[in-house]
Amino acid sequence: MINKEVSLFIKACAMDSNDILEQVIHIVSQLERPRRFKERVLCLDNYNEKFIRQHCIGSYTELIRLSNILKKRGWIDRIIIAPTDIDVIQSCHLKWFGIACEKSHTHKGSPSFVHCWGLNQINTRYVLMCDVDIFVGRRNFEHDYLGEMLAAVNQKSVMSVGFNIPFPSDEPFHKYEAPEGGYVPETRCGLLDLDRIYKQFPLPNYLTEGSLSLTWYRSLEATQQKKGYMSLRGGSSSTYYAHPQNNLKSDTEFINIIRDAFYNNNIPSLQYGNWDIVGSKKLWSESKFEETINYNAINDDFSYVNKRNTRYPINMHRLEIDITYRCQLRCSNCSRGCTQFPVDSDIHISQIIEFLDSSFQQKRFWNKVRILGGEPTLHPNFIEIIEIMYRWFEKNSPQTDVKVVSNGAGKIVREKYYQIPELWRTESSFKDGSDPDYFDPVNIAPKDLSSFQNEDFTKACWVAMECGMALTPNGYFPCSVAGAIDRMFKINGGRLTLPKDTEDMQKELSKYCSLCGHFLSDNFLPRDKREKLIGNPRSKTWISILNK
Ligand code: SF4
Ligand code: SF4
Repeated sequence: MINKEVSLFIKACAMDSNDILEQVIHIVSQLERPRRFKERVLCLDNYNEKFIRQHCIGSYTELIRLSNILKKRGWIDRIIIAPTDIDVIQSCHLKWFGIACEKSHTHKGSPSFVHCWGLNQINTRYVLMCDVDIFVGRRNFEHDYLGEMLAAVNQKSVMSVGFNIPFPSDEPFHKYEAPEGGYVPETRCGLLDLDRIYKQFPLPNYLTEGSLSLTWYRSLEATQQKKGYMSLRGGSSSTYYAHPQNNLKSDTEFINIIRDAFYNNNIPSLQYGNWDIVGSKKLWSESKFEETINYNAINDDFSYVNKRNTRYPINMHRLEIDITYRCQLRCSNCSRGCTQFPVDSDIHISQIIEFLDSSFQQKRFWNKVRILGGEPTLHPNFIEIIEIMYRWFEKNSPQTDVKVVSNGAGKIVREKYYQIPELWRTESSFKDGSDPDYFDPVNIAPKDLSSFQNEDFTKACWVAMECGMALTPNGYFPCSVAGAIDRMFKINGGRLTLPKDTEDMQKELSKYCSLCGHFLSDNFLPRDKREKLIGNPRSKTWISILNK
């Protein structure tokens, strides 16, 4: 359902260039259910000098390049870039505040022009405005948070409604309300009624040392107090957001952990009642999801109700490297086929070097890289591979979150594991060789099920977005499970060179996802919320390939 009266307006600047791709995808995919926006607009600030509260050296060129990728892939409809022309700045400030000020920032260095100008480019009455660095959590994707916010903003004398913050799931609905004079408009994430705001023009402001004194939202707050308008807060605990302070943003790994926790609706209770992210990295790490998605609704004869609504992008800034298919364990339903189809197949060191060289040539930004298998420590050149990669990432991309994911079972594995840099160790996958009942039924091919006969398999699944693309002994794939399927079905569909981050790998998805049991689930579910997987369910295509 498209809401024709509301646009989504996401603000970004050069400092956001590191993770704009992940963040825009996160925000749009979390917010566009059950309603879609009429238009998704990405507003870029072209300011490239010293920022107040600067947290990194951003790249404006990279910001533009990645924004164009987002547009090409359909995540946003329009990119708008604030002009630098003095006449435009003056006339915009004249319209908003009755002052033809030529400075784009207030006297304290906060941006003013980019927001005012950006809002003027919006063609709908309402706009959900947010910063690109926010995290959004959903307990229930059917919850019509936008409908509730629209009902609240339509009340008499309301100018804006703030997006709700995290509360416990059993917290009753908080009525949208405000004290006298209203709250300050929520600029990090809130719904604005532009018609009502424009009717108050010019808003109060004044000059200090030739620059505006008030930001647009402080000016709006002053209008509220003078004319009896309000900005409200409230809402249901089903949908919420929070915001990282700038000092957290240089820790890419921490930001990834927080984003994952919001995606999985698995945030620490300490966050309840807070706008800004609170709590340590350790606290957030304890709530992070592990590796697979849910198993549900398949019965003995594999009849299954197709509930696949969501389309997932491949995260081309994340990579899993399955360096070997050797594994000393034999878990049921192994997503890499190490139990169903064991082989001693390893990645060649030249593939690792080619990957690093290509990353360098493509100026590729890697947000997250995972070294896995099989059991990665069983690769005959495991330590050599780690040393090569460690040197390269330390020199060329120290901000990338790189980890080795080991099953940690047995003396040989543990001895090798503890030879790698501590920074690169993760304890998240430790298994004991039993039959994990939280795995997905990977060997049920959706194409064997009647309800998937007309399915579009390029929708992919949550794994492609969270884990990203893959490099295996057989080349590059849209995800590592696809790489394992390719091996077992002898498809030979791996790419020999690193795909560019502008590519979508749709052809591969339609092939591999039709064979993959992960495709059956529309959303990620934490392990304790999944139905238990019993035995080794296999559909006819898998039975025939595994019996060969
Ligand atoms: S430890 Fe991992 S790779 Fe090895 S069999 Fe179990 S699930 Fe598969
Ligand atoms: S191959 Fe499987 S895991 Fe990979 S994107 Fe497709 S459905 Fe998801």
